[in-house]
Amino acid sequence: MLSWRIGRVTITSVVESETPTSPRFLYRDMGKADVLARAAAATWLRPNFVSDEGYLLQKIQCLVVEAGDLRIAVDTCVGNDKQRSNELWDHLDGPFLDDLAAAGFPAESITHVVCTHLHVDHVGWNTMLVDDRWVPTFPNARYLFVDAEYEHWRDEPGLFDGEDPFGDSVAPVLDAGLAELVAPDHRICDEVRFESTPGHTPGHISLVIASDGERAVITGDMLHHPMQLADPELSSMFDTDPDQSRATRRRAFPQWADGRTLVIGTHFGTPTAGVLQPDGDGFRLDWSTTG
Ligand SMILES: [Zn+2]
Repeated sequence: MLSWRIGRVTITSVVESETPTSPRFLYRDMGKADVLARAAAATWLRPNFVSDEGYLLQKIQCLVVEAGDLRIAVDTCVGNDKQRSNELWDHLDGPFLDDLAAAGFPAESITHVVCTHLHVDHVGWNTMLVDDRWVPTFPNARYLFVDAEYEHWRDEPGLFDGEDPFGDSVAPVLDAGLAELVAPDHRICDEVRFESTPGHTPGHISLVIASDGERAVITGDMLHHPMQLADPELSSMFDTDPDQSRATRRRAFPQWADGRTLVIGTHFGTPTAGVLQPDGDGFRLDWSTTG
């Protein structure tokens, strides 16, 4: 299991699934040969993030941030029993909750849930099915939703036809009185705050962890794959505003590439995190001293 220490804060990865992904799923018109050409130019991408065949090596994970007495679950994956259009995600019956408990975090111990945005693979374990009803999985947690993000998805259909992630994974949390709508620069505690990183979705946030002079950032989906560090212009086909997401990366990456910021990629394959460094026109991850 991967975990990182940032001063007095610990961040632990609990993985729900890890699957080689076709580049066309994320980046319209990009074939495997295009991915291999990008990896030939940015050699650090292989073999950890790009397979020999040109697949993207991705994972879906929840990152648990331990800061003082707080246990903050960041992004809650796809979840079990949900009707989903993507057959890889439909009616899952996986061991995620057991894995979370085995990592030291039984569901009752989580004090906060943060969704970097309200896409289907980031809200799933917000709820679980009990007696044919969706109930909050983390009964003692405050669920923090960014107000602009909540309002956008309340009024929009989901990304895919035939599914309702807002209805089954967000609305029941509000109905149970566990949700708090917050600003995109919300601070949870001294060490943990939101950073607004819009473009992938209107209210998208990343999470900044700072303690004892050390710093980490949990990206969310302001980028999906490390190729977008090498080429910040590359936007995913799921970005609601691709130009805004480019501008967000162009603003954020130089600030994070200070040689001491650990960038933890929400969907990055193992090693998942590294120190961000400038590299030509873009950036690269260095994980030789981390993890
Ligand atoms: Zn995602």
